Parts: sequence; structure tokens; C-alpha cells
Amino acid sequence: APTFVADLKHTLKEVFGFGQFRGTQEAVIQNILVGNNTFVIMPTGAGKSLCYQLPALVLPGTAIVISPLIALMKNQVDQLGAFGVNAQVYNSTLTKTEMNRVKRDVISGDVRLLYVAPESLTKDDTIEFLLKSTISFVAIDEAHCISEWGHDFRPEYRKIRGIIDNLGGNVPIIALTATATPKVQLDIQKNLQMDDASVFKTSFNRTNLYYEVRAKHNTKKQLIQYVKLHKGKAGIIYCLSRKKVEEIAELLRVNDVRARPYHAGLDQQVRIDNQDAFLNEECDVIVATIAFGMGIDKPDVRFVIHFDAPKSIEGYYQETGRGGRDGLEGNCLMFYSYDDILKLEKFSKDKPVTERDNAHQLLAEMTNYAESSVCRRRQLLHYFGETLNTDCGFCDNCRHPKERFEGEAAVGLALRA
Ligand code: ADP
Ligand code: MG
Repeated sequence: APTFVADLKHTLKEVFGFGQFRGTQEAVIQNILVGNNTFVIMPTGAGKSLCYQLPALVLPGTAIVISPLIALMKNQVDQLGAFGVNAQVYNSTLTKTEMNRVKRDVISGDVRLLYVAPESLTKDDTIEFLLKSTISFVAIDEAHCISEWGHDFRPEYRKIRGIIDNLGGNVPIIALTATATPKVQLDIQKNLQMDDASVFKTSFNRTNLYYEVRAKHNTKKQLIQYVKLHKGKAGIIYCLSRKKVEEIAELLRVNDVRARPYHAGLDQQVRIDNQDAFLNEECDVIVATIAFGMGIDKPDVRFVIHFDAPKSIEGYYQETGRGGRDGLEGNCLMFYSYDDILKLEKFSKDKPVTERDNAHQLLAEMTNYAESSVCRRRQLLHYFGETLNTDCGFCDNCRHPKERFEGEAAVGLALRA
């Protein structure tokens, strides 16, 4: 009904301050409001959180939001608090007194959203107090954590279905992920037993991102030139090792680039400071291992460079996806050499056989991508089960056909002759 739509728009404006829904947000929200199971697959930055936050404000009871990281939960709860929404976390960081207060507020129906880690949900006393509460729906954020094929597998995520069953009744489920591979999607739906869910999948085509792969020679010189070309603009440079991160950050600094390192080996406070400096524009470039990025919401990153080849296309897509979130310019450059692939193969040598086979498969796909002369976007989207009808015209292979890898160029010539 039109008034209903108007109400949603009104809430969107009043609470969140946004004038318009983005993409399929509104359709997703309508689907949740009628009590259907819902599966949302949208790229990072598309605005998935709003898909469960807004219906949680409209429906009676408390929405349970399952999230894998305490930092992500805190971030959202703080933001919602600033909008005047009663959202709480329930996890191991709370004192006994705080836990009791949260429980009381949930049971009395004051809390609109309750953020929990899956491991706190398995505890008996949690189930007990949730049984005394009215639950509007359960949202499972970062739902790819369910799948071993995802890039962030969490065994506790596999227990969620059982927990929801314990909550009795038929609580609607909404699962959300930015993971685009059909294999992971199937896994999620199977594990959560939500074959009946309405699926909302938007395209993973990031039309403003320019994809480019260059062979690794004179790489440091190429890097400095590239960064200077984007002087004063925000960029992320991913390296494989902590040592390389430090080295490249230093190289850029002596070349007058405001760069800082980020990796798990740094002191926690240094990491936080460097991340804040990047977000506050006190530095332009962050040189990092893949430890950097999850949940970072900086809209104006103008370039993402992979100094070393990434481990999988999925990872590559997620990392490059941090560029150009505002829809403006975003340049994605990968330096590639087969030696990098061999190095990565070596890393997985000590892993169990199945894991090693999996890693090998992912690397083979990465190699194909890097060495191919086919439109990059076509390849990326194909990997995610999407078909592009024409070449994109906005990647290195479209702009500068052939000649990139000599061997391949020769094959191409032979075929054309
Ligand atoms: P995702 O979880 O899909 O990666 P988020 O939920 O973190 O994305 O949202 C990304 C950004 O988009 C946030 O800054 C959020 O405030 C903003 N956003 C979401 N919906 C809208 C909207 N309808 N209009 C404007 N901005 C929005
Ligand atoms: Mg999200």
C-alpha cells in the first residue's frame, strides 16, 4: 500500500537521514516485513545493514543480528545509538551487571536490535532469556562465514540453524553476504535450511573500477610512478608479507609519499593510529597485508594496488572493491609474476590435503585471470556466475589488446595468421 511505502521512506529519512533507498533495499525490506526468509547478496558497500536495521525499527520485538567480529558489532551499535535507536551488544565483553541489564531490556521489548556473536548464542542462559523475549527476526550478517568455501570460515556459524530451531516457532531469517560465488551461496542456503528464501542478488559489476595487470619488472619504479601520478589521493597497496609492507611503506616515504604500514605484526595501537590516519586523511596511502580492510568504510579510495599476486579471485575482488566506493574513480592495478604463484603454492605445502587442493585450485584460477587477454570484467563476473554481453571497454585488455604477455601474444598472432 502506498502509505506503507511512504512510512518506510519517512523512517529512512527521519532515523538514518537518507532521502532514497539504494538498489533493491526497499524490496528486501518489504519482504522481511511480510515475514519471509530472505537472502541478500550484494557487493561490499551496497548498504546491506540497512536491509535489517530499518525493518527492526518497524516490527514489534527485538531483531537478533549475528555478526562475526566484535569491532563490527560495536561500530553498528554506536552508529545506531547516534541515530537514537536502542541497539545493544550481547557478548563476552560485557560485565555480569551489563548482561543482566541487556537481558531485562530485551525481555521488556525496549531493544530494537541485539547484536550477538554465534558463540554467545549457544549458551543455555542466552537461549533461556531469548525464549522469554519477542524476536522479530534473525539477521545473519557476513553469512559466508558458514561456508568452508568462503574466505572467512567460522565453525560456530554452522550452529546457527540449530539455535534458531531452539528458539521455537518460526522466526524469519535474513542472511546477508558480499560473497559472490554460487558455490558459497548454495552452501549458505543449505546450511540455514532456507531453500524457500526470496533471493535478492544484485550485480557484482563495479562499473567505475578500472582493472589492470602488469608484469612484475622494475616493479618499485613502476609503483612510485603510479603513486606519484595519483599524488595526494587515497590508495591501498596490498603486499604478501609483513616485511614487504614495511619495505614498501618506507620506499614511498623516502619518495615523499605520505604512506603508513598496516599488518598484524604491528602493535595494536600503531595499527589503530595508522588506520585512523588513513581515514582522517593524515596519510594518503596505506601499505598493508590482507589483514586490512574488513568493515572499513572509506568512500574515496582512488587506487588499490596488489604489489604481489593475491591468493584467489574472490579475495582480489573483495580487496579491489574497497576502491571507488563513492562511485567515482577507482583504479585497480595488480603486479603479476608466476614466481608469486609458486611462492603462494609453497605456503600451502604444510596444510592438510583438502585445504592444499583447494588453495591450488584458487591459485590456478588467479593465474588464468592474470595471464589472460580476455576482458578482465568479463572474467571476474564469469567467476561469480554473471555474464557480460559485451566486453567492458574499461580494463587493460579492452584498452590495449594483446602484447601484454609475450607468450600469449605469440599464440594470439599464430591464431590470427
Ligand atoms: P555493506 O554491508 O553492504 O557493505 P553498509 O551497510 O556498511 O554496506 O553500507 C555502506 C554505506 O552506505 C554506509 O555508509 C551506509 O550508511 C550507506 N548507505 C546505506 N544505505 C544508504 C542509502 N539508502 N542512501 C545513502 N547511503 C546509504
Ligand atoms: Mg556489511
